[in-house]
Amino acid sequence: MEILYKSTRSDAEPITASQAILAGLAPDGGLYVPTEDPSFDRPLKELVQLSYKELAYAVMKQYLTDFTEEELRACIEGAYDEKFDTPAVAPLVKKGNAWYLELFHGATIAFKDMALSILPYLMTAAAKKNNSEEEIVILTATSGDTGKAAMAGFADVPGTRIIVFYPKGGVSMIQELQMLTQKGANTAVAKIHGNFDDAQSAVKKVFNDAAMKEELARHGFRFSSANSINIGRLVPQIVYYVHAYCSMVRSGDLVCGDPINICVPTGNFGNILAAYYAKQMGLPVRTLICASNENKVLTDFFRTGDYDKKRPFILTSSPSMDILISSNLERLIYRICGNDPSANKELMDALSAGGEYVISGEMKQKLDDFYGGCASEEENFKGIAELYRETGYVIDTHTGIGAAVYRKYLEETADGTPTVIASTASPYKFAASVVHAIDPAFSAENDFGYIDRLRELSGVPEPNAITEIRSAKILHDRETTAETLPDTIREILGIE
Ligand SMILES: *Cc1c(COP(=O)(O)O)cnc(C)c1O
Repeated sequence: MEILYKSTRSDAEPITASQAILAGLAPDGGLYVPTEDPSFDRPLKELVQLSYKELAYAVMKQYLTDFTEEELRACIEGAYDEKFDTPAVAPLVKKGNAWYLELFHGATIAFKDMALSILPYLMTAAAKKNNSEEEIVILTATSGDTGKAAMAGFADVPGTRIIVFYPKGGVSMIQELQMLTQKGANTAVAKIHGNFDDAQSAVKKVFNDAAMKEELARHGFRFSSANSINIGRLVPQIVYYVHAYCSMVRSGDLVCGDPINICVPTGNFGNILAAYYAKQMGLPVRTLICASNENKVLTDFFRTGDYDKKRPFILTSSPSMDILISSNLERLIYRICGNDPSANKELMDALSAGGEYVISGEMKQKLDDFYGGCASEEENFKGIAELYRETGYVIDTHTGIGAAVYRKYLEETADGTPTVIASTASPYKFAASVVHAIDPAFSAENDFGYIDRLRELSGVPEPNAITEIRSAKILHDRETTAETLPDTIREILGIE
């Protein structure tokens, strides 16, 4: 069955998977969604024995149907190699009352590596398939982790440039250092004045600017996106949820066919949407627990059906989740309004014009798969400290939100379904906050002091991604604003 992709905002002709990956965002500003739901190609119990790479192929080929077996396997081989510090790629560990799916064993120690280590391969294969001669310019807004993972993935990939924008003052010192020390002649990064939503909106605006697109084309460039608005980000993320399930069956923690819950610390709604897609494929998932930090737009949305971003933007210790406009929710909205692009567009227009939309009762009923919950800074820190005291296991501040919300979910529902929590970053990436949670009396001059303390507390060796930046040179120093962002892009590409 061939799967095509169409925009959530118009009835424009569907396109192939490779074309959707190349484009990133649809020309009408919508996101690409599959026209049908792919399902597994064989009974679940036959997937259980597959290695991560084999499983990646079995899952991804159902979505990316215009890639040949050879192409797709080459992408997978290139992506999931020694860049990951464990052959399991994404180990699953049982601690306390949950299973933690560690998605941070890649080059930049956050879950973004799971998709961004393969996206450059998918993108260059897609360019070849479609005889696209232009140089691909990846534009990315980042709340801290995507930027580094995308730069690491695309660095020195022939035929590509990567430009990253991150909110000034909105990322951790480690995240910032990771980005500013990125090597590769085709990489560029700029701080943008404002928060993540400002950065994301400014980048989306450039994508939708037909004149700018034409100007770029004249110079032999075309834009694409490495954000989770690109379907090429979401599809590889489906794999690890199936992998988690299979791991539980293999270890005897689960009988094949029995349901699990999946709890995801959420920002842009990409990671949890991938879990939802896994469920649509046939993975036995009961509840998708959407965990938010104090920027709890999604919690309120799932409870009331009212998406309202008109509220203060709060900077928290889980910065990669400090988001008020969760772009990927649009894919779910489109679906629950009966795949009606004009109904979806109306809601999205209301959001950009007035900062709010309310879904109908009928639409809300279709959200039963989801439970929305949030945790405060205090609850997050308390949960991280308790888990450490009880088990010795250290989780980062994003995963901490997932764990804290899961705890509340349990209190509220007493649902005994085995639950997988997506562990989205290594605690080393947010060492200062994590140490603050576990050992509040400790203080150090900078993040490296906290990293040393974390090593003592956790007994987990320092990841290479951290060791590297201790001595790496700062290579980037650009700053821009939402207004000057297009000029910054021109300057980087040398097309003034
Ligand atoms: C990006 C990120 C998230 C949020 O993921 P979304 O797909 O945007 O919902 C959570 N935790 C960490 C560490 C991240 O980097």
